[in-house]
Amino acid sequence: MQLLWLRNDLRLDDHRGLRRLAESQGAAAAVFILPSCWLQPDCEGLHRLGVAKARYLQQALADLSRRLAPCPLYVLSGDPAELLLQWYRHSPFSLITHEAQAPEEAAWIEQLRHHGVAMTLFSAQTLFEAEQLQPVLAAFPASFSGFRKQVESRLALSVTPPVAATGLEHLTPALCPLPTGIDWPQYSESEQPHPAQVGGESAATGWLRHYLFERQAIAHYKASRNQLHGHYYASRLSAALAWGCLSARRVWQQIDAYEHQHGADEHSYWLKFELLWREYFHWSLRLHGRRVFAAQGLTGRAPSGRHHPGYWQAWCRAQTGWPMIDAGLRELMTTGFCSNRLRQNLASCFIHELGLDWRLGARFFEQYLVDFDVASNWGNWAYIAGTGHDPRHGRRFNPHRQWRQYDPQLEHLHYWLPELGPVSLAQVESHQQGRELLNYPAPLLPLES
Ligand SMILES: Cc1cc2nc3c(=O)[nH]c(=O)nc-3n(C[C@H](O)[C@H](O)[C@H](O)COP(=O)(O)OP(=O)(O)OC[C@H]3O[C@@H](n4cnc5c(N)ncnc54)[C@H](O)[C@@H]3O)c2cc1C
Repeated sequence: MQLLWLRNDLRLDDHRGLRRLAESQGAAAAVFILPSCWLQPDCEGLHRLGVAKARYLQQALADLSRRLAPCPLYVLSGDPAELLLQWYRHSPFSLITHEAQAPEEAAWIEQLRHHGVAMTLFSAQTLFEAEQLQPVLAAFPASFSGFRKQVESRLALSVTPPVAATGLEHLTPALCPLPTGIDWPQYSESEQPHPAQVGGESAATGWLRHYLFERQAIAHYKASRNQLHGHYYASRLSAALAWGCLSARRVWQQIDAYEHQHGADEHSYWLKFELLWREYFHWSLRLHGRRVFAAQGLTGRAPSGRHHPGYWQAWCRAQTGWPMIDAGLRELMTTGFCSNRLRQNLASCFIHELGLDWRLGARFFEQYLVDFDVASNWGNWAYIAGTGHDPRHGRRFNPHRQWRQYDPQLEHLHYWLPELGPVSLAQVESHQQGRELLNYPAPLLPLES
């Protein structure tokens, strides 16, 4: 029997593991295991599976289950290695699964190997295979630009065509000996997510086509990507990439196709540039493993973060008294998404204004972000904290300058904090410095202008 263990590869397209399954004979099934620890609150009351993320995941699994039929997809919850071992003892299988990104996944895979489970690993998340990057990995560049310059010239991607459901018809559906069914976090059906936040390969493929070819919003990507508000300022591909509803290789190949039709320019180049940032963080995590999650990160420098319960609670309620930060937190906590520029500012305020431990901020994002990606999230938090790959040892953003530049009409602010009324940027700025009282709580700390 062949068992395909799915994690962040919830698709049929460009799926080397599924292709392998289709080429096999006999009994087969696919399984997704929701680690039960994702459903338990940690000591700060944070859950690894927030509501918006849970909705995306459920939709993605339902879509995949439809597309995989007649091959069954079982959705279980528990400790992945223990559940798979129970299944294995009941009816031995050969396991097909993608390479680990995080140390937690590597430990599960190791445990299974240790108990004799035969395994085929394939690459699902990254643009490159490890073999293609050997010289780069042997002396991993400390900065993104060092990495980018070396890998850009190596990009010869091979994308595997989708496996048609008919390609699985010769297999016998394997029965799962374990109880299925999960107590998912509840979400409201009435909330309409952004089309890119609808889970699953079908929705993601439609969004990619719409973004690139129908709307051609990539044509202004470099100029608009830093905006805070709107439908098309950036690609919104992150959730699909994080859960593997689209492969990074397929996205790259579709940008190539767009360039072939409409011509390459700085905008199409810049979207690829950002995909290389993702690639950089993925390989960094694979190489550096647990060090990425340590307080001192990759630098070994002692971090300055401390715990301040009052600040932390205000943050969790989106009541820091800094309207722009609270608006960003509201968006994140309501929709599971906010722009890259907002994420940078939220992280900068958390670390450099409130002086909180950057790792707590990263865990907070993990709960809420629908596109949570362990490598990109922890890599970006460490970058801003100055414990990661930033040659400038951290980024502290000046919120006033940021908002003057990226939301001068206060569109984002007015959308997310309607109770503020028609305030001007100057009024908000003086409130943030503690000088003028709007109809809004006082800032936790005055912000320097
Ligand atoms: C503190 C912080 C935490 C973050 N956490 C995550 C996370 O958990 N998951 C995640 O996918 N991205 C994360 N990012 C990166 C980035 O903010 C998001 O990828 C981006 O905002 C998603 O929107 P988009 O798809 O429209 O991006 P676009 O601007 O359209 O970019 C296209 C794709 O490139 C990749 N990308 C873009 N910027 C980055 C970046 N800085 N680092 C890594 N990859 C990037 C993403 O896959 C993205 O979908 C984080 C950034 C910060 C500052």
